[in-house]
Amino acid sequence: MDEIIDRLKKVRKGAMFIIEAPSGTGKGTVAKELLRRDKNIKFSVSVTTRPKREGEVEGVDYYFVSDEQYDEFLAQDAFYEHVDSQYGSRYGTLRSEVDSFINVGQDVLFDMDWLGARQMKAKAKDDVVTIYLLPPSIKELRRRLENRGTDSPEVIKKRMDLILDKMSHWDEFDYVIVNVDLEETILKIQKIISGERMKRVRQVGLKRFVKELVKEVTDE
Ligand code: 5GP
Repeated sequence: MDEIIDRLKKVRKGAMFIIEAPSGTGKGTVAKELLRRDKNIKFSVSVTTRPKREGEVEGVDYYFVSDEQYDEFLAQDAFYEHVDSQYGSRYGTLRSEVDSFINVGQDVLFDMDWLGARQMKAKAKDDVVTIYLLPPSIKELRRRLENRGTDSPEVIKKRMDLILDKMSHWDEFDYVIVNVDLEETILKIQKIISGERMKRVRQVGLKRFVKELVKEVTDE
């Protein structure tokens, strides 16, 4: 029986976790911490046509590709989902990147917008779990963006203008957390992840396990 229980742990199907939030809500920090604390969650590296920013690493932050290479991926139907950003760059999630993880029981974390989340939900259905982080207040959001010190006042204004549009999609998500305290938010998401891992649909080894339990009874 120990052997079967061991196997049961190994044959879980991975889940896809998408966390979305308006900029400044702490999505990036939350994602980094989740990946650092739980080695069974892998980050899905997206393909993008936007230029690499300072400090970004090929294959870690993104796969940086030309427009021609991106078109090639499109022609091969290689994307689970893809979007064209308002700024002209394109982003996509490769099927190969995701499937290589979930088929061996590893969960995957995505950085994508609500449009991508919607496409993923339509395609991968029960495999996808979406979480939306709301800021505690707009005043606090502005303060966080200003304190971050990475954006110019013009960029902050642009980001603030986009917030209403982004926030209007909060009710398409499975879970919603108001991010008052970062640590508390991380703990809440870890609880969501544990619960999702226990769902029957993800425990693909259960059938065999229950069969063995039944056999034990009938053999007695
Ligand atoms: P950035 O260029 O600042 O890294 O990302 C811009 C936006 O694109 C962010 O909202 C980010 O979540 C989103 N994004 C990054 N990768 C993907 C992807 O593969 N698919 C979708 N739909 N959005 C993405």
